[in-house]
Amino acid sequence: MSKVFDEFTDEYGPEKIVYVYEPRSGLKGIIVIDNTAAGPGIGGIRMAPDVSTAEVFRLARAMTWKNALAGIPHGGAKSAILADPTTPNKETLIRQFARAMKNMQGYIPGPDMGTDEVSMAWVRDEIGRSVGLSKVLGGIPLDQIGATGYGLAICAEVAQEFAEIELEGARVLVQGFGNVGSHAARYLEERGAVLVAASDLDGTLYDENGIDVDKLTGIKADTGHVTTYDGGKKLPRDAWVDIPCDIFVPAARPDVIDERNAVRLKCKLILQGANIPVTARGERILHDSGIVSVPDFVANAGGVICASVEYRGGTQKQAFETIEEKIRENTRAVMDLARAHSQIPAEAALTLAKQRVAEAMAYRRSH
Ligand code: NAD
Repeated sequence: MSKVFDEFTDEYGPEKIVYVYEPRSGLKGIIVIDNTAAGPGIGGIRMAPDVSTAEVFRLARAMTWKNALAGIPHGGAKSAILADPTTPNKETLIRQFARAMKNMQGYIPGPDMGTDEVSMAWVRDEIGRSVGLSKVLGGIPLDQIGATGYGLAICAEVAQEFAEIELEGARVLVQGFGNVGSHAARYLEERGAVLVAASDLDGTLYDENGIDVDKLTGIKADTGHVTTYDGGKKLPRDAWVDIPCDIFVPAARPDVIDERNAVRLKCKLILQGANIPVTARGERILHDSGIVSVPDFVANAGGVICASVEYRGGTQKQAFETIEEKIRENTRAVMDLARAHSQIPAEAALTLAKQRVAEAMAYRRSH
């Protein structure tokens, strides 16, 4: 058992690692409550057959930093059900898992890979708390309103000065034109920017004269592919790397920018829509090339900020206002700190998040 402490614990947490097993249904689950100094941890329930304790811990820790930096009264937590999300047993497993965490007030579950608003409704029904609910249960449909994409556009409003670009007329490239990517493109277009390229699993669409975001969103919803847009050039999926632009929004997968391709990027500002889209070495190369890269937990916090407003019974309007206020403030704080110390923004963001968690921890009883 002491191995678990050696492997995972440090000065920030985790407070609890709980394994859940129910022999009759076959439920196997892991709950990690990392740090609740600022308030109960918000973090998703992931449902996948192969999630490890280390992965759940890393995801919980990432939520600790993201929530602290977002300035919401929540710590970090995460959990996983080790099962295929298409199992016919899904409702039983989720309900049992929820009951197992009934008394863990330090954890507010939300949706993640393999779970959705229906899963969250089952969780709420069992234990009276969850976020990411449907409207009828008081939820704010964060994917439908584009909470994360909106936050990315607010982030761009602040970061433009640091990247020495103007949003008006800025050329935008989106890798992964899904929920986050399409809404980011729409909110950036509203601010005068022009979408010049968008990609998905099947290819890249490129038009240096500009792509109509609404039209592309409709086509992607109807056909599932960006390359069915009439007009522009159809290029291979990974062609985005060499497309010149001002703002690049990676909004698909982790680790897409690394030490091999970072040198090829022809942009001035990166807004990280996906989680960890840039490796540590990639960040260093971008920084040395003068590209401003705003880290995920600053730029894509719109979704979790929205969830926190939902948890307090707030409205959609309040969610937009809070996202705007928090992301504006945090982007400026991180970029100012990075500039003052000639630091990579991701390092400055982590410094700030750690300071906030340490400050919240200082108010807690230690004996
Ligand atoms: P999504 O499934 O709606 O969209 C992802 C898009 O990326 C799809 O169009 C898919 O075709 C495309 N894609 C996948 N692999 C690709 C590849 N290799 N090259 C190009 N395109 C590729 O998902 P989403 O909700 O938009 O989330 C995107 C990312 O943002 C994920 O990493 C997610 O964890 C992260 N994120 C999402 C939110 C949110 O509010 N939804 C919040 C924070 C972070």
